Amino acid sequence: MTRLDKIRQLQQEASALEPEASMRQAVQQEVQKYAHEFLEAIGTMNAFNEDDAKGAGLNAAPIGETGRSITSLIDLVRKEVDHPALNPASGGHLGYIPGGGLFYAALGDYLADITNRYAGVFFAGPGAVRMENMLLEWMAGLAGYPAGTTGNLTSGGSIANLIAICTARDAMGIISTQIPRAVIYSTAYAHHSLEKAIRIAGLGECQHRYIPTDKAFRMDALALEAQIQQDKTEGLKPFLIIGSAGTTDTGAVDPLERIGEISARYGLWFHADAAYGGFFLLTDEGKEKLRGIASSDSVTMDPHKGLFLPYGSGAVLIKNRIQHLATHQYQANYMQDALTSTDELSPADLSPELTKHFRGLRLWLPLQLCGLAPFRACLQEKLELTRYFYEEIQKLGYETGPEPELSVVIFRRIPKTGDADTVNQKIADAIRADGRVFISTTRINGQFMLRFACLSFRTHLYHVEVLLEQLKMHTHEVVVSIE
Ligand SMILES: *Cc1c(COP(=O)(O)O)cnc(C)c1O
Repeated sequence: MTRLDKIRQLQQEASALEPEASMRQAVQQEVQKYAHEFLEAIGTMNAFNEDDAKGAGLNAAPIGETGRSITSLIDLVRKEVDHPALNPASGGHLGYIPGGGLFYAALGDYLADITNRYAGVFFAGPGAVRMENMLLEWMAGLAGYPAGTTGNLTSGGSIANLIAICTARDAMGIISTQIPRAVIYSTAYAHHSLEKAIRIAGLGECQHRYIPTDKAFRMDALALEAQIQQDKTEGLKPFLIIGSAGTTDTGAVDPLERIGEISARYGLWFHADAAYGGFFLLTDEGKEKLRGIASSDSVTMDPHKGLFLPYGSGAVLIKNRIQHLATHQYQANYMQDALTSTDELSPADLSPELTKHFRGLRLWLPLQLCGLAPFRACLQEKLELTRYFYEEIQKLGYETGPEPELSVVIFRRIPKTGDADTVNQKIADAIRADGRVFISTTRINGQFMLRFACLSFRTHLYHVEVLLEQLKMHTHEVVVSIE
């Protein structure tokens, strides 16, 4: 066989990678049928399915030389992926931090994947990069950040926090010899992704002060300032304060305004982690609660939480573009074509990534199609539902944590006799076994707590009523009947 014959033969063999119109339609029809079926049923689907196999059936269909039919593959997805355990698309998902998965965001992804625009570098994909920068500018406006703020659409809050921590490290001149003397401040309720980011950034040997909190689990600003003063007196180098704008455990908002003042007074970097709470800025109430967020140097917010996007959407904003670029900008010879354009900053110069998913379109499309009003209403609905739940749960005899600041409630039932932790674990297990709604649990000051978190755009009064009914029933079975 000549080389040309060989090339033609290979092209023929590879042709399945570019299906013709009829084939595209046939496969797409099956995919759409399943998506439609899923969305039509989502209102009655469980939020949690106990399933012992945990998707192990996937192993029976190994990757092989020849392909399989789309119907057999969708069957696998339906049974092995979309059935077991948590169903995050369900409005009954009231655990961890719910998100959702807006349909229009999926269409944005679909288009981004079909056209495969390159959103890493402005030269290659000016429209795509401009779209992402415009979305970040909109978020900067929400946070009260000034013009000239830079940012990055990340895969989530963890990477956003990492970008902020690395920038803070360099901006504050924390070089290797300084690390053991450098001090980081947060409460014990800061998200664990920050600890992870600190370690990955090479800052694991810094001093980390966990500042005491008030009764509502918010940082005690007086204690923060006293600790900074003491550390300075001892010759240490305070450099970073991490404030939470909505902790994952309890939804507590640290006193951002006070932290901003202290940070400025001592010349430290203030990072605000608003991965969960950030988009409540779209509500008047949230804006009030998050007052002072504009005084931070960097902020993390997760569109896959507060804007209900499918997973894979976080964001970081950094006030000082020079410092953001100093940590992330790189130039390589093979990128020389990209260096001629300076119109807009490129995501590749503002994050660890080069080639990346075009994340802007999945965010831009739903925001443009729906406008902001339904987002604001949905977020306000979550705040009201949370207050409703907080009041109703007390009527059922539950002890509650502080009045919710945003959309998280911690609560537990204290039995007259017996161990409270065991009883509450049993209640959580019973709710999980029923499956219609899902709540998670946490430990606060060593105590086992049930946890309600309301942030899915599909969560409505109905789901809260189901949860209350479940709690009433299981409290009776587990606690009252033995008291
Ligand atoms: C969810 C969350 C994170 C981590 O974000 P991911 O998107 O899960 O990576 C960080 N901080 C807070 C407060 C969060 O709620």
